[in-house]
Amino acid sequence: MKTHEVRKKYLNYFKNNQHAIIPSASIVPQEDPTTLFTGSGMQPMLQFLLGETHPEGVRIVDSQTCFRAEDIDDVGDNRHTTFFEMLGNWSLGDYFKNEQLNWFFEFLTSEVGLDPKKLFVTAFIGDKDAGIEKDDEAAEIWKRLFKAKGIDAKVVDIGSEEDGYKNGMQDGRIFYYDSKKNWWSRAGVPSNMPAGEPGGPDSEVFYEFDYIEHDPSFGLHCHPNCDCGRYMEIGNSVFMQYQKQPDGSFKELDQKNIDFGGGLERIAAASIDSADMFKIDVLWNIIQKLQDLTGKKYEDHVVAKRVIADHLRSAVFMAVDGVVPSNTAQGYVMRRLLRRAIRRGYELGIESNLTTEVAQVVIDEYKQTYPELQTNNQLIIEVLRTEENLFRKTLERGIHEFTKRTSELDFSKRPPVPTGQRTELTGKLVFTLFDTYGFPAELSIEEAEKEGVKIQVGWKKDFDKLMLQQKDRSRTATAGQFKGGLAEHSEATTKYHTATHLMYKALRNVLGDHVVQRGSNITNERLRFDFSHGDKMTPEQIAKVETIVNEVIQKDMPVAYKEMSKDDAFGVGALGAFGEKYPDTVKVYTVGNPDGDYYSKEICGGPHVKHTGLIGKFKIVKEESSSAGVRRIKAVVE
Ligand code: ATP
Ligand code: MG
Repeated sequence: MKTHEVRKKYLNYFKNNQHAIIPSASIVPQEDPTTLFTGSGMQPMLQFLLGETHPEGVRIVDSQTCFRAEDIDDVGDNRHTTFFEMLGNWSLGDYFKNEQLNWFFEFLTSEVGLDPKKLFVTAFIGDKDAGIEKDDEAAEIWKRLFKAKGIDAKVVDIGSEEDGYKNGMQDGRIFYYDSKKNWWSRAGVPSNMPAGEPGGPDSEVFYEFDYIEHDPSFGLHCHPNCDCGRYMEIGNSVFMQYQKQPDGSFKELDQKNIDFGGGLERIAAASIDSADMFKIDVLWNIIQKLQDLTGKKYEDHVVAKRVIADHLRSAVFMAVDGVVPSNTAQGYVMRRLLRRAIRRGYELGIESNLTTEVAQVVIDEYKQTYPELQTNNQLIIEVLRTEENLFRKTLERGIHEFTKRTSELDFSKRPPVPTGQRTELTGKLVFTLFDTYGFPAELSIEEAEKEGVKIQVGWKKDFDKLMLQQKDRSRTATAGQFKGGLAEHSEATTKYHTATHLMYKALRNVLGDHVVQRGSNITNERLRFDFSHGDKMTPEQIAKVETIVNEVIQKDMPVAYKEMSKDDAFGVGALGAFGEKYPDTVKVYTVGNPDGDYYSKEICGGPHVKHTGLIGKFKIVKEESSSAGVRRIKAVVE
């Protein structure tokens, strides 16, 4: 079945069951500056799941465009893309488990036509420590549903994922897994949940590609949650059923919700019984384009073509939501995707117009469903073209330098001339080309192979050593840079550092996501902060920012940092500053609980107070223009 048909059938099926169809929210969250991208259908629905009334009623259905930076390293396998659509349906205090499982099962088997014998499901085994029951209600429903299709479904207690690898399928069809696998809450497993937090068991559906043999490198035996590719998760029904109490126990919620999320592309892949998700129409058309452009078959470059197809599809959907390549936030992620795709393309011999050619295929593929792609067609192409040209210049310069530096010169002549001989490519030279010209190491090696330049034996060892030294150097330099030239880390400046974080976040909350840090300067008497914003702030806005900051101070939230890679930092939605060049490893400071409810996350070198209560009372003393489109605030703490 075609992907667009699966989407349409899903929306209509739930519409016929009294659901209101809502449009997909933007892939860049509009109301939540803590998160760079919409990563699930649930994300834009969260406030309604937490109790707010939805204007469209208590039954909602949609297909949400999602982007998951955290899945970038999985791209290349058979079933992960950074961009995908998540089919979602929600009951806001209306129907519950029985209707949900019935409907999803009927949708899969009757509407999409999946063979029920190839479906395997999971349910929650219970959590003794938290005093939460096994979800035998879900298992019973599944048993009945399979029975109606003439299948006697055996129920198996698996427990943990590790137990799954140890004990295998045991002829089961319905599997109980533990809270790591089949429990949902914002904070994770029951023991991590704060009091008041809602959560509940979930039930996943897997499709079996019976022609894929289990790959024992993943574990001794296969089971639904094994990642070898034989089973593919196609949908997850979350039953928001409990609320954690102050004494640690769990109480049934009065208003129980259903939160369902299913992968559109994965269901489409199941519908054509293809373990390779890239064989579905919307992705295959891109792959075909890549075959045309390279003159090389998919089968010979599976991973590279998957990566290019995925990254460029993501970039198109970012561009249509107004993201442009840059060195911060969403723009940084987009730049990285584009450059990765261009490099992979280059390896396959595409030296121009990769992004624009592929983007046009993506736009044509999706414009019926997302007309804004059509409206912004030219704009999207231009954004990609600019970035591709920029990056190709980097590559060109790299190749020029490569040729120059690997060409032997005859010094008996004045000026020296090339002899036509080539000198060896050393690890040191590979490093220099990368370090000075941004020319990737893989490309140096490839270029050498192409040009018949000898590659130094053991070049990699030298290269790695130099890279390590460089990392150490930049770490030290950054540590210095992050001090911002401050000689002292006095108690007062430390307070101002943290106060700056609180205010940055509050400004975004009050004024909007366009607020990005443009500069910051701290003395032990005040903070000064420049940020992008067009208008003068009103007295009400200033007062609101002060109130938010002072509330966070009063709540005495913990402040702590974690070191992580720059990509992970942006992946978790950490804020950065405009135009800032961050090192590969950064510190991410969180105000609040890093794994649960937090107030802000920001990339910063510190120092910061240990908890916000130490800051004192916060007050904005001046708000003025700094330059065009940039405002400046001076504030003090008392
Ligand atoms: P997986 O374990 O396969 O990564 P997940 O547990 O991360 O999946 P959920 O967060 O439950 O998935 O998302 C709901 C559904 O969205 C999944 O059942 C799957 O069908 C789909 N999905 C999740 N991640 C991806 C992805 N990277 N590419 C395509 N579809 C995805
Ligand atoms: Mg995942």
